Amino acid sequence: MTAFDPDWQTETLAIRAGIDRSQFGEHSEAMYLTSSFVFESAAQAAARFSNQEPGNIYARFTNPTVTAFQERLAALEGAEFCVATASGMAAITSCVMGLLSAGDHIVSSKSLFGSTVQLFSTIFSRFGIETSYVELSDPAAWEAAVRPNTKLFFLETPSNPLTETADIAAIAAVAHRHGALLAVDNCFCTPALQKPLQLGADIVIHSATKYLDGQGRVLGGAVLGQRQLLEPVFAFLRTAGPTLSAFNAWVILKGLETLQLRMDAHSRNALELARWLEAQPQVSRVFYPGLESHPQHELAMRQQRAGGGILTFEVKGGKEAAWRVVDATRLISITANLGDVKSTITHPASTTHGRISPEARAAAGITDGMLRVAVGLESLEDLKADLARGLAL
Ligand SMILES: *Cc1c(COP(=O)(O)O)cnc(C)c1O
Repeated sequence: MTAFDPDWQTETLAIRAGIDRSQFGEHSEAMYLTSSFVFESAAQAAARFSNQEPGNIYARFTNPTVTAFQERLAALEGAEFCVATASGMAAITSCVMGLLSAGDHIVSSKSLFGSTVQLFSTIFSRFGIETSYVELSDPAAWEAAVRPNTKLFFLETPSNPLTETADIAAIAAVAHRHGALLAVDNCFCTPALQKPLQLGADIVIHSATKYLDGQGRVLGGAVLGQRQLLEPVFAFLRTAGPTLSAFNAWVILKGLETLQLRMDAHSRNALELARWLEAQPQVSRVFYPGLESHPQHELAMRQQRAGGGILTFEVKGGKEAAWRVVDATRLISITANLGDVKSTITHPASTTHGRISPEARAAAGITDGMLRVAVGLESLEDLKADLARGLAL
């Protein structure tokens, strides 16, 4: 690998880390579409298989394009080691399957990506791993949920859709006091805005499908942390097989090159749109960590470089009014996906949070008038006009 300086700024690491030029001296990163690798001799094959010689064997284990992506993302997160996976859910699955066993216990924040809740509640539970759900922003609640068999704390910050913020350092301290690990799903902020390992987390999880790719093209994921800690996660991956493909790794690797630029621009657009929404008479509340009105604004701004691209607002008039805003859009895509240069809008109560009971939804603070916007990089004027149309109806 070409040497890079880990002290370089994020912008530089995103463009320069993880480059391993072939004999041809290509400037851009090459893509290695090969499932297996050949050996020069029987002795070399034996040495590779017995781990006495480093090198590629089979693409379920390693592939140079995937390795380049892993090195670049590790440099960005300030991590020693990165295990790339086929999707964000594959990252969470590999992390838990690699590090936990039957009889272990997870403490997790209540507000969590829907499939993560499903995975914890309906799948890991069948293998003897139990999960307790606590209030994201309350370190005392995390402490109270700890059992003697608690191995892992798991959280997302800011949360979806209400952008609630967790104090990563405080929750890491609680986890470590009880001999547990803290894993942070850093999908919403990315290392361009927040570096959980520097704040005391042990593991960072990514859905690279979102902002790391940034243009909605491919699925991918990653688990990051110390090498020794994550060796069992890599061992699970190479055996069970939820490996990132070389093509997807290459797409995301190139996406990373503009990560800082994009995240700063997403954050700028989102902050301006949040301020504008706050001033609209038809809007009762706006949830965005970059707004002074956000209850945890100070913590968020201490922990994050900027507010990120996701905001939620509540329109007066409940579901009918909210659906009118969605249906009046001509530019913003009606989809639950996020982390794309294209802005998206979703009505959480009837989509991402539609399967949970109305009571549970109310307890989570998600009302029928709420809309979540993942603010893209289109012109702010056009985005405002697209939302204003439905608000005026
Ligand atoms: C999308 C998402 C995931 C899952 O990622 P996939 O790549 O879709 O598997 C996990 N966590 C968060 C916060 C997400 O937004």
